[in-house]
Amino acid sequence: MTDADPATPQGKVQGNAQRTVRRTVIVVGGGAAGLVAALGLSAAGASVTLIAPDRRPDPRTTALMDGSVNVLKTLGVWPRLEENAAALKVMRLIDGTRRLLRAPEVAFAAREMELDAFAWNVENLNLNAALDTAVTEAPIDRITAQLTHVVSRPDHVEVTLDDGRILHAALLAAADGRNSLVRRSLGIPVRARSYPQVAVTATLAHSRAHGDVSTEFHTETGPFTLVPLPGKRSSVVCVVDAAEAERLVGLDPEAFAGEMERRAHSILGSMRLESERGSFPLSAGTADRLSFGRVALLGEAAHVIPPIGAQGLNLGIRDGATLAELVADTLRADGDIGGAALAEAYERRRRADIETRSFAVDLFNRSLLTGIVPIHGLRGLALWLMQSTPSLRRAVMRQGIGPTRDVPRLVAGRPL
Ligand SMILES: Cc1cc2nc3c(=O)[nH]c(=O)nc-3n(C[C@H](O)[C@H](O)[C@H](O)COP(=O)(O)OP(=O)(O)OC[C@H]3O[C@@H](n4cnc5c(N)ncnc54)[C@H](O)[C@@H]3O)c2cc1C
Repeated sequence: MTDADPATPQGKVQGNAQRTVRRTVIVVGGGAAGLVAALGLSAAGASVTLIAPDRRPDPRTTALMDGSVNVLKTLGVWPRLEENAAALKVMRLIDGTRRLLRAPEVAFAAREMELDAFAWNVENLNLNAALDTAVTEAPIDRITAQLTHVVSRPDHVEVTLDDGRILHAALLAAADGRNSLVRRSLGIPVRARSYPQVAVTATLAHSRAHGDVSTEFHTETGPFTLVPLPGKRSSVVCVVDAAEAERLVGLDPEAFAGEMERRAHSILGSMRLESERGSFPLSAGTADRLSFGRVALLGEAAHVIPPIGAQGLNLGIRDGATLAELVADTLRADGDIGGAALAEAYERRRRADIETRSFAVDLFNRSLLTGIVPIHGLRGLALWLMQSTPSLRRAVMRQGIGPTRDVPRLVAGRPL
C-alpha cells in the first residue's frame, strides 16, 4: 500500500486510511526544489509520495549558497556532491559598460564573513543525480507520472495522475515548475514580468586557473558571469538580447569559445567549449499566494527570478527547508499538517525572502539596461560605497548569501 491511499468512490477518506493520510504529503515535481522538499519532509517524519515524471538532461550549473549547502549536509546529500563542487571564495564585479559614468571594480571575499566560501558551484546533472540517490535511499514512495488534476478539500487533498490513479494526502507540496499545473488549477494569479534578454549558458575549459574567483562583468545588455567549476573549468551565464543569443548559440564551438574569451577579457586565458549550450529567455513572476487550502507552492511554481546573483534555486531550497520545519513541528504537536495554521505560517515565513530578492534582482537588471545617466551614477556610487566601506560590504554580502532573520533550522545546519 502506498501512504497516499486510493480514494473511495465518494471521494471520502475513511478509517485507517484517514489516519494514514494525516501524516502524508504528496510532493509533485522532480526538479531540484521538489527533490529537496521530499527529502526534508521525509526527515520531518511525514510519509512522502513523490510524483516525478522523467527529467530532461540539464546542462546548467547552480551556485549553492552556504545555507543551501547546510540543508544538503543535514539531509545527507552533500557527501555525494562535494567532490564535484567548486568553492566560490571571492566575487568580483567589474563594470564592462562603455558608459560615461562607470562603477569601480568591487571584490567580496568570503573570509571577510569568516566563511570558507560564499557558495559552491555544481553541475545540475551531478546535483540531480545526488538528490535522486538520496530519494531512493529514503523511505519515499516515488511514482513516475504526471499530475493531471488537483482538488483541495477541507480534510484532505486529492490528486489524479495521468495513469488514472487517485491519491489522497493531508498536504500537497507543489514544485511543478514555472508553468505549475497545480497553481493554475487553483486559480492562483502570478505577478509576471518579462525582460528583453536571454541567458546563454555553457561550460568552458580554460588555460588559466580561476583561483576560486567568480567574476561578473556588467554590460549594457546584462551581466556576463564566469563561475568556477572543479579544475580549470568555469560555467558562463551570458545575458544578451534575443538576436545576439541566437547568433551566439549558432556559432561553431571554436568561434563561440573565442567570443566567450573576448567577453571575459581573456582573464582565464584561452577557452574551449565543453558542454551543450543553453538559451533561457529572462522572466520573473511571483505567485500572489504561496499556499491555498492544503497546497503549498515551492520553487519556480511560487517564484521565478532572472539568473542574476544565483538566487532562484537557493530560494526554492529555503522553501522546502521551511515547509519541512513547519511539518516537523506540527507533527510533534499532533496537529494538522494541511491546516490553516501551517499554511499561514508558510506564507508569512517565505514571503519577505522571496519579495526582497525578486525586487533586488529586478532593480539591478533594470539599472544595467536603462539609458538614464543618473541611474548609472547611482549604481556606480553604490558600488563605490561598498568598495570603500567594509561594514557596508559585509552587510551586502550577508544579504546576498541569504536571510539573517527567521532562518530555517536546516539552513542553519541544524536537524529538524
Ligand atoms: C541560466 C540559469 C542559471 C541559473 N543559475 C542558478 C544558480 O546559480 N543558483 C540558483 O540558486 N538558481 C539558479 N537558477 C535558477 C534555478 O535553475 C531554478 O530556480 C530551479 O531550476 C527551479 O527548480 P524547480 O524544481 O522549482 O523547477 P524545475 O527544475 O522546472 O522542476 C519542475 C519539475 O516539475 C515537473 N512537472 C511539471 N509539471 C508536472 C506535473 N503536472 N506533474 C508532475 N510533475 C510535473 C517537471 O517535469 C520538472 O521536473 C538558474 C536558472 C537559469 C535559467
